Amino acid sequence: MKDTFKHKGLRQQLVAVVKDKGIKDEQVLKAIGKIPRHLFMDSGFLDHAYQDKAFPIAANQTISQPYTVAFQSELLNIKNGDKVLEIGTGSGYQTAVLCELGAKVYSIERQLELFKITSKFLPKLGYRAKKLIFGDGYKGLKEEAPFDSIIVTAGAPFVPKPLLSQLAIGGRLVIPVGDDIQIMTLFIRKGPKEFEKHEFGEFRFVPLLEDKN
Ligand code: SAH
Repeated sequence: MKDTFKHKGLRQQLVAVVKDKGIKDEQVLKAIGKIPRHLFMDSGFLDHAYQDKAFPIAANQTISQPYTVAFQSELLNIKNGDKVLEIGTGSGYQTAVLCELGAKVYSIERQLELFKITSKFLPKLGYRAKKLIFGDGYKGLKEEAPFDSIIVTAGAPFVPKPLLSQLAIGGRLVIPVGDDIQIMTLFIRKGPKEFEKHEFGEFRFVPLLEDKN
């Protein structure tokens, strides 16, 4: 698990790329500049780690593109100590970003293989989520609700109701919605039954699947 000057240099270039594409949140940029993304991928793929691209990980899944991670993180508007639910732990890279932003993170993954790998790996890097859960993100995590923010890192064919109902008043849900192509969507809970909706253009994610394996 090496993090060399070369990696650090490449990471600063990646920060510049993401900034150039429009990310302004300094805390988010700082997190991208700090987290050794190459360690979240198989070592054979070192050359790809600091390009602004999604990349295959275990169980046919992907580590999201850094710009997408930054974009979703910026929309969450996290404050230190916020309780945040992530759906789709995957490699744990987005989880690490949330930790760097000072969130108390709960993250759900439905692929057992990824859940096991990432549960072992994140603490080794010093990232301690409140809870990593093997389960179905469509249901959210009722026992820990309400959340200040919820982030979905897979393409959702529709907006799961439990996720909206598990938001605190003032809370934010960031979710890519759609089948082949997704529209990045932000819901802000204004009242018990009142939600404000904002849309932010097209993204592409692996699908949010029902029924865990
Ligand atoms: N945040 C991840 C992105 C991984 S890709 C990262 O930074 O690497 C999306 C992840 O969502 C995959 O790991 C996939 O297995 C998971 N996923 C898909 N459907 C799910 C569901 N219903 N509940 C929880 N996780 C799910």
